[in-house]
Amino acid sequence: MLYGGNVATKISASSDTSRLMTGQDYRDSLRKYKPTVYVNGQLIESVVDAPSLQPGINALAITYDFAHDPTKAPLMTAIQSASGKTVNRMVHINEAAGDLLNKLEAVRLLCQETGCAQRYLAHDALNGIGQVVARLDDAKGCTEHRARFAAYLRHVQDEDLTLGIAMTDAKGDRSKRPNQQLNQDVYVHIVERNGQGIVISGAKAIVTAAPYVHEFLVMPSRNMGEADADFAVCCAVPVDAPGITIVARPAGR
Ligand SMILES: Cc1cc2nc3c(=O)[nH]c(=O)nc-3n(C[C@H](O)[C@H](O)[C@H](O)COP(=O)(O)OP(=O)(O)OC[C@H]3O[C@@H](n4cnc5c(N)ncnc54)[C@H](O)[C@@H]3O)c2cc1C
Repeated sequence: MLYGGNVATKISASSDTSRLMTGQDYRDSLRKYKPTVYVNGQLIESVVDAPSLQPGINALAITYDFAHDPTKAPLMTAIQSASGKTVNRMVHINEAAGDLLNKLEAVRLLCQETGCAQRYLAHDALNGIGQVVARLDDAKGCTEHRARFAAYLRHVQDEDLTLGIAMTDAKGDRSKRPNQQLNQDVYVHIVERNGQGIVISGAKAIVTAAPYVHEFLVMPSRNMGEADADFAVCCAVPVDAPGITIVARPAGR
């Protein structure tokens, strides 16, 4: 079922999807990254070749292949009107109520084939951040946050990336605020600000598909007060950024 909204029509879908990755392109793209990944305690030499991770990689590859299937492309892709480009539905920012329904239908389609669509989390996170940056700008009377998010969104959509959503912090003692934790690394937080940006430290838990994504979208996992300002951090980091260690279990069920 296809709902109204910004759907890639028959006219545009076949030609415009040519710039989107196929499942094989996605697999090949993973070779550009060298993440530090342990599965059941064993260091993984090459994520894309690891038998233990194939079920997850296969599932994500299907989100790319379906975008090229003419019968599925109207659901699996959408036009982002800001750029006029056809993008994968999983990295589209909703523009109409129909977009939300089409995303649900696209996830249903993917789950029927894969068991878990995985990439839909990027859609949820990007749309959530899209709302927050608008509110921040409106509250501060500026456009800075919208502009920074728009630039990042262009990067994700143009590169057709898969994002891991690193939101759930390890949390430590649940009765304490982040700044009250004995070990502050139980929440990801800023440890240094310098001319190049910020340095972050800490542990995120349960990042679906972590070993075989391109980037992590790091987001706070709870409301933060004044004293927790260093923990209210939202940023993107490549999967193989220096210092990141991924402790995973075999993909699949
Ligand atoms: C299959 C799966 C995939 C997931 N994928 C992702 C992902 O891709 N990215 C991501 O960021 N997260 C992901 N998650 C994590 C998920 O969002 C969290 O598990 C969820 O937010 C709950 O957090 P928690 O596990 O730390 O539980 P807790 O916060 O420890 O909660 C456990 C229980 O304790 C209760 N509780 C907690 N604190 C208190 C308190 N102070 N007082 C009283 N009761 C309390 C809660 O209500 C709950 O019932 C995934 C989880 C699953 C199961």
